Amino acid sequence: MLAFHIFAITLGLVLGSFILTVAMRLQDGRSLLVRSHCESCSAKVSITGLIPVIGYLIQQGKCSHCREKISSIYPLVELLNAALVWSIFSKTGIEAAFLHKLILFELFLLIAIIDFRTHLIFPQPVVLGLLVQTFWLLTFENPALLNGIIGLFIGAGIFHWVSYLYVFIRKKEGLGSGDATLLGLIGFVLGWKSLFAVIFLASILGIIGGTLILLINRQPFGKEIAFGPWLSLSAFITWRFSEQIQELPLWLSGIDLSHF
Ligand SMILES: [Zn+2]
Repeated sequence: MLAFHIFAITLGLVLGSFILTVAMRLQDGRSLLVRSHCESCSAKVSITGLIPVIGYLIQQGKCSHCREKISSIYPLVELLNAALVWSIFSKTGIEAAFLHKLILFELFLLIAIIDFRTHLIFPQPVVLGLLVQTFWLLTFENPALLNGIIGLFIGAGIFHWVSYLYVFIRKKEGLGSGDATLLGLIGFVLGWKSLFAVIFLASILGIIGGTLILLINRQPFGKEIAFGPWLSLSAFITWRFSEQIQELPLWLSGIDLSHF
């Protein structure tokens, strides 16, 4: 069993590096098929440099060619993703569900990184997520199909109306239509009953996390923050800790998360 845990962590490190590369290239409209290169001197990244985290440490966070600093976002995302993949594995074990949740949460990570950097929800990972989930529901989880489809429409609908009223009252764009799309996908994956927990959690995390980021970057408080990363993170927490959330008192206990 230990071997599988090590496998999950290694897979997470490698996939983290891959997802970050895909995010940057989608954002810049570059090809996914060329070898990674240094952003300062354009030298190809060495084989050592391609190893997640360890490559960064060996090169002391600098390009081996021009010695320019490499962003610490690389090892950070790789480590975070290792924790993510291990956490998925520790819930699903070696099941088809592992692959299913792995693909979907990596797509959510991709969406979150791009939204964080550009304030846009890119369509490619969303469409891929819709396709993967449709295949999964039709093949392995037929009974959850209706729940997912309702989630797709309620998720997108809630955000559409919140955004609509927000614009009406404040006469200012607050939540993008991308957030509606993302919440629709989350509803499709987790089922409509989980949406309340996801929105509740994302609002709290968004306010705390968003404020911290504005403080760290010394930006004014009126500045718009990307909500996609908080929605994605909340979707993961809601799925991963669905049993614990179900045991919470008060209004949350009424939410049936048993189909996860
Ligand atoms: Zn360089």
